[in-house]
Amino acid sequence: MDKKNIVVSGAAGRMGKTICKMIIKEDNYSLAAAIDVLNINKDIFNLLGINSSRQVLIKKNLKNVIENVTVDLVIDFTNPEVVMKNIETVLAKKVKMIVGTTGFDQSDLKKVKKMSEKYEVPIMIAPNFALGAVLMMEFSKKAAKFFEQSEIIELHHDKKIDAPSGTAVKTAEMISESRSKNNKERDQDFLEKLKGARGADYEGVHVHSVRLQGLVAHQEVIFGGEGQTLKIRHDSINRESFMPGIKLAIDKIDNLEGLIYGLEKIMDI
Ligand code: NAP
Repeated sequence: MDKKNIVVSGAAGRMGKTICKMIIKEDNYSLAAAIDVLNINKDIFNLLGINSSRQVLIKKNLKNVIENVTVDLVIDFTNPEVVMKNIETVLAKKVKMIVGTTGFDQSDLKKVKKMSEKYEVPIMIAPNFALGAVLMMEFSKKAAKFFEQSEIIELHHDKKIDAPSGTAVKTAEMISESRSKNNKERDQDFLEKLKGARGADYEGVHVHSVRLQGLVAHQEVIFGGEGQTLKIRHDSINRESFMPGIKLAIDKIDNLEGLIYGLEKIMDI
């Protein structure tokens, strides 16, 4: 089987480095290029502490790179400010894309869907590539039918730029869609003595964001009903937790069409 030539955008970042390591280790994948605005012209193998006779120098210009190397797929883990531009650049070249960068709103997703249809190339965006996190969301969707009230607490490392996390927003959307009409949360008036004490409010689902050193990515969904609570919790204790989901996306993307939003779409749940 031919190796998949993969370009990683955001390669010098926390997620990017873990993804490059995974690609280098896998027999069926080849790291075609590494893009970042940091560590330009440094060898990614060197940066990762991997001995190799091959060199892949980090480049800044994604467009130049995809015009000049053999590339089957671009994986983007950069930041919300640059990701839309990267998507336009990659899809316009008819190259498939997997995006883990978070911070998309509904209008961004509409634009991406249009682009993937216009250029007839698939793109997969998932706010969370951890299989366990996807199951946590699915179980929360199921539980929401039976509980009147729910709150989400998401906890991440202190370098995360966006809040709430993409996973928390998606969970809130899924809970809201799944709640039965009789189960709509009744948000009573409360006296907020400290602004923000009740967190963000997505159609009655309150979302609380914790940012602390020492954390990676965690989320707890708490459901409350008469005389009982149910807690569903997922913890990513390191960035390797996202790799099986990313590999699943890499292996399935050739058979997909248009915009696929959410890892659950390609998991046989
Ligand atoms: P990070 O360490 O800040 O990595 C992002 C990297 O992208 C940085 O090296 C950054 O450089 C670089 N970058 C910025 N602009 C760029 C551009 N135009 N082209 C190429 N590279 C560029 O962040 P992280 O923790 O790896 O997370 C990256 C993204 O993935 C975030 O949006 C995060 O929320 C998301 N994430 C998603 C999942 C998931 O499962 N979907 C899991 C974890 C994280 P500078 O530092 O100079 O800006």
